[in-house]
Amino acid sequence: MKVGDRLVRFCEAWESSAILRPNYHEVVVESLLVETMIENAYERSCIEKANKLPANSIAQICWIKPIEKRRSDQRYAHAIFSMNSREAANKLILHQAIVGSKALRARKNKSDPHRCAKCNVFGYIAEQCKVEHDSCARCAGRHRTSSCTAPDDQLQCANCKTPGHGAASRDCPHFIRKLKKRVQWEPERAYELFVTRDPETWVRDDAPLKEDFNQGWRQEVANSYNTWTIVKRGNGQG
Ligand SMILES: [Zn+2]
Ligand SMILES: [Zn+2]
Ligand SMILES: [Zn+2]
Repeated sequence: MKVGDRLVRFCEAWESSAILRPNYHEVVVESLLVETMIENAYERSCIEKANKLPANSIAQICWIKPIEKRRSDQRYAHAIFSMNSREAANKLILHQAIVGSKALRARKNKSDPHRCAKCNVFGYIAEQCKVEHDSCARCAGRHRTSSCTAPDDQLQCANCKTPGHGAASRDCPHFIRKLKKRVQWEPERAYELFVTRDPETWVRDDAPLKEDFNQGWRQEVANSYNTWTIVKRGNGQG
């Protein structure tokens, strides 16, 4: 019996309201026209055809930024495509995403570690923050970032204390260390593509192909292949 079949039986026996869905493989597609009808199933099937993907490869498409936060004259926006298989996700990343006859850049969705909007510490969000004072993400002063008046040449990082960049900078050595740590518990992060049995997908962002790091987990991913998540029926995620 396949793992998926076994899990389906488990769900049935455990609770009839539980269903099984594959884990999605998220791809960021850049600069979609804001008029694209991403919630429309027919539109999604057209995108699948244009990209020569099997039917139902795209589970859903969401805008990254809430629509209400757009500028009034904004014409393009980034979206997250939740793909049902690793191969379909890789196809978009390798060959770009064709949407409305345009080829758009597509990349694996690698979310950054959470940084508290109040105190700039990584690992939690402002709602959970216990620090009393605000710390500015531009100049490290004790005020909200939104009320910062420091000129651009007086940035200072609240985390590594170095002048020249703010706490939101992707070049901050403290941030880069946090990202590296994340790779340790989420090894697939270091890869540009979703790892499959195809060795082409085994190229790391930061090392040549020959160096065979993490072979153990990679074998595991390749063997378990597309993994599954148990979800409750009718919670809007299924
Ligand atoms: Zn905080
Ligand atoms: Zn400031
Ligand atoms: Zn810094």
